[in-house]
Amino acid sequence: MDLSRRDFLKATGLSGLAVALSGLGLNMAKVQAAAKEFKLKGAREFTSICHFCACGCGVIGYVKDEKLINLEGAVDSPINRGALCSKGLGYGQIPNSDQRATKPLYRAPGSDHWEEISWEEAIDRSARALKKARDEGWKQTEVIDGKTVDVHRTDAIGFVGGSQINNEECYQNIKMARALGVIYIDNQTRVCHATTPPAMNAAFGRGAMTNPWGDLKNSKLIWIEGSNLAECHPMGLKNVMKAKENGATIVHVDIRYTRTSKIADHFFQLRPGTDIAFLGALINYIITNKKYNEDYIRRNTNACCILRDDYKLEDGIFSGYDPENRTYNMETWGYALGPDGKPQKAQDLFAPNTVMSRLKEHYSRYTPEQASAITGMPAEDIQKAAEIFSSHSPTVMMYALGMTQHTIGVQNIRCFTILQLLMGNIGVPGGGVDAMRGQPNVQASTDFGIMYQYFPGYIAYPTEKTNTMESWTKVSGTQNRRWLINMLKAWFGDYATAENDYGFGLIGVRNSHHNDSIYGMFEDAYRGTVKCLYLCGQNPHVTNANAGMVHDGMCKMDTVIAQDIFINETAEFWNRPGDNPKDIQTEVIFLPACSYLERRGTITNSMRLIQWRMEGPKPLGDSKPDYEINNLLWRRIAELYKDSTDPKDAIIKRIDATWNYSDDQTVEDILKEINGRDLATGRLLAGIGELKDDGSTSAGMWIYTGVYGNGEHLAQRRGQEDEGDMGIYPKFAFAWPDNIRMIYNRASCDENGQPVDPAHKIVWWDAAENRWKGYDRPDVGSLTAAPGTPGGNSPFRMTGEGYARLFAADYADHNPDGTTRLHSYTPVDGPVPEFYEPVESPTKNALHQNERAQFNPCVIYPRMPERQRIGTPDEFPYVLCSSGIAEHWCGGTVTRNIPWLNELVKEPFVEMSTQLAGKLGVKAGDKVKVSSARSEVVVKAMVTDRAKPLTVNGAETHTVWMPYSWGFKGLSKGPSTNYLTIDALDPNVNEQEFKACLVNIQKA
Ligand code: SF4
Repeated sequence: MDLSRRDFLKATGLSGLAVALSGLGLNMAKVQAAAKEFKLKGAREFTSICHFCACGCGVIGYVKDEKLINLEGAVDSPINRGALCSKGLGYGQIPNSDQRATKPLYRAPGSDHWEEISWEEAIDRSARALKKARDEGWKQTEVIDGKTVDVHRTDAIGFVGGSQINNEECYQNIKMARALGVIYIDNQTRVCHATTPPAMNAAFGRGAMTNPWGDLKNSKLIWIEGSNLAECHPMGLKNVMKAKENGATIVHVDIRYTRTSKIADHFFQLRPGTDIAFLGALINYIITNKKYNEDYIRRNTNACCILRDDYKLEDGIFSGYDPENRTYNMETWGYALGPDGKPQKAQDLFAPNTVMSRLKEHYSRYTPEQASAITGMPAEDIQKAAEIFSSHSPTVMMYALGMTQHTIGVQNIRCFTILQLLMGNIGVPGGGVDAMRGQPNVQASTDFGIMYQYFPGYIAYPTEKTNTMESWTKVSGTQNRRWLINMLKAWFGDYATAENDYGFGLIGVRNSHHNDSIYGMFEDAYRGTVKCLYLCGQNPHVTNANAGMVHDGMCKMDTVIAQDIFINETAEFWNRPGDNPKDIQTEVIFLPACSYLERRGTITNSMRLIQWRMEGPKPLGDSKPDYEINNLLWRRIAELYKDSTDPKDAIIKRIDATWNYSDDQTVEDILKEINGRDLATGRLLAGIGELKDDGSTSAGMWIYTGVYGNGEHLAQRRGQEDEGDMGIYPKFAFAWPDNIRMIYNRASCDENGQPVDPAHKIVWWDAAENRWKGYDRPDVGSLTAAPGTPGGNSPFRMTGEGYARLFAADYADHNPDGTTRLHSYTPVDGPVPEFYEPVESPTKNALHQNERAQFNPCVIYPRMPERQRIGTPDEFPYVLCSSGIAEHWCGGTVTRNIPWLNELVKEPFVEMSTQLAGKLGVKAGDKVKVSSARSEVVVKAMVTDRAKPLTVNGAETHTVWMPYSWGFKGLSKGPSTNYLTIDALDPNVNEQEFKACLVNIQKA
């Protein structure tokens, strides 16, 4: 790369807000001017998508003599319009980096070094290790709840990764993992945004970000909570700044003042883990003062539905609680049903037991004073925040890991959904709940079900309660059965027929009581069950909470297969400073993958946009694209099993029969399989509506159907049209589902299909042409389904009720024949958000006396008491919150190997207030020991006024903050913050509580 270090430092900005604004592209003219001077003559140009956060910025690269010579932002990308932040720009150093591992490597048991091996040997060793673990760890049956269940799976293999590879590679990995009978499957979303899909799904019926970045310009109020957008999603902020230019008000709510606060009109500080108390007070204010949008909630939500009269909440515990198992029976959380089995509705919003009346009662306890005692935010600030929120519309609520990484993560996000529904802000221009995801393809690795609990497309994975197609359909419903049949046809081909339930019985079965997440996996490795780990672009040694558990689990494994671009801490865990490699008998095989610029494929950003990456330079050295490595690995595994007659291996043969991707068109072949076909004609299906439930169509993942519609590769599109100037750009790439950019957009229209706000219309019913039309694709069952008909009437058609759910009732909708059509999702820890303290908290829960309700009553922690001690405030008096920064990203595997970024921020640190520093006698730059109940690290102190002490329940409370992207490998080394953090998990999805644990700090 010819971009000079000086230009880079100028472009990324070295001081304060300059990183946020210059890095956003506001000063990028200098970089672009410099770029023009490069010797690009004769260079090959290609386009791709940035590797880091899930903004999905477009890049243009230039290749000469098979080397990358320039990388810059793509001007035609509606997301970044030519700008890149420091990380995106810095990636230009990676294709030619001499830090990269470019040969397959082997670390023998007990060895203290790597040996170079051939690709043939690396693949053979990997395939044999997976086979050995699978066969030796095979579990044919298991006794669950006193019954012997045929589970046909292996408990000896873990599959981890996916959020840094392309869609087609994700699909290969999940197909391979499920073929092997693997249950421990996870990707980085477990650690980041696992709580988002169930929260959004419980409210709206789908689990994804609602509105595109471009729509932010239509907002009147941008509410950013639990996110440092300026540093972690800089191009998201670029779009926010556009709204600000249009007169929007910006509010930032967070645990400390950051670069995002700097651009906000209002900043509100709260204590980590107390958002529900704050947001509950806002809900209370809106209901009490009748600030809700009555027309909207009557038309689109379950506000008027009547709940069962035996539903209750007593001292923090909902009805149906089983204290022994810490679970709920949700039966009482249902509706009063009419004779037709549908929820009964009242005319009066606040009639007894309506959802609105129960919401009003529930949140009446969340007064500004009560919320203030919990959050530490002054009551008058809470009042002011409520007034600002309720006096603007449309409003978009944007969030990231500050909301998700808690033991009440799902319920945090549920608060946003309730607030936005009350104000009528969902499915309208300028509205929405925008989940900002932090890895380039974490959206798709979640879409593809690289998670223990899903198949691709958010279809539930079978457990002992749903281990036949019949029992599975009873729970998941016939709508999901349709998507599942299409996936089974894609995986098992001609073998899958109605007679054999499309091969459903070949798939392994989970134990619903067992934690199969990345946390359960390392715990079971420590217990000796998980023997072999396949890792693809993930660094859990740095990114998992209570990281010492990861290390100790890995030490007990037989084999680790690490597929990555650099050798990171997880691949080289056996060489951790202070340990003796001789004591660690795990063999490690390293498979060198190439960078994103060196391979092609599609990738999906936060706003569900599926974009195409072209191939740039050739892979460095002997490194290979992940899709090629996956092909080699699968083919070798299939070869090893080819003569087997064991029934447990039948699934491998069935999957192998459809693993027939050509060598030169692997990516395109896979994308077509994902898209789906009419099996009689071979035609690639144009949309989800074409999928049949009779085995006559196939689709590897239903939600992406249409991306290759009728043979047209729509992810490659770069159309700039934006009719209506709404920021939609419908011909730029392809968004799932069905190219709808703003999901639920039918909610912007009245019963007759006419825009409620004609000045900001997005879709409408054209009575003259008898069809739905719009600047975006209308989100209706069928474009010709008129308003008033079932297909044209429900903006929230993906919930069982057909309404958005203010209260996440337990409800299954039925077909006329009595079978389940669709079961709405209800979080396991409550139908409405209730405040609980973090597991490690500096104070008592001010809302409840009940000890059970100190923290989330459904959280089971510790799971391994000897390894998971809970710290108390007398020993660990300060609250630690950790997150990312602009210059380093995630586990640091890539960014700590970019010299320019290391120059910007060279080491981890702990940020504390001037008051706390004074109390401890610490000055900026002093070394301090930060200790928790799990471990301790020594870092430098950074003393600022950004996280002021708060008064919580009458006591002064201090919050400190640390970045987490460091470890003992790479060019920049430093202690890993996650040795300190707590691995208590949200009970819905097993996401950890990174944002609040207790520590002590002493001068080192
Ligand atoms: S890191 Fe995110 S904001 Fe920065 S260039 Fe990459 S995609 Fe864009």
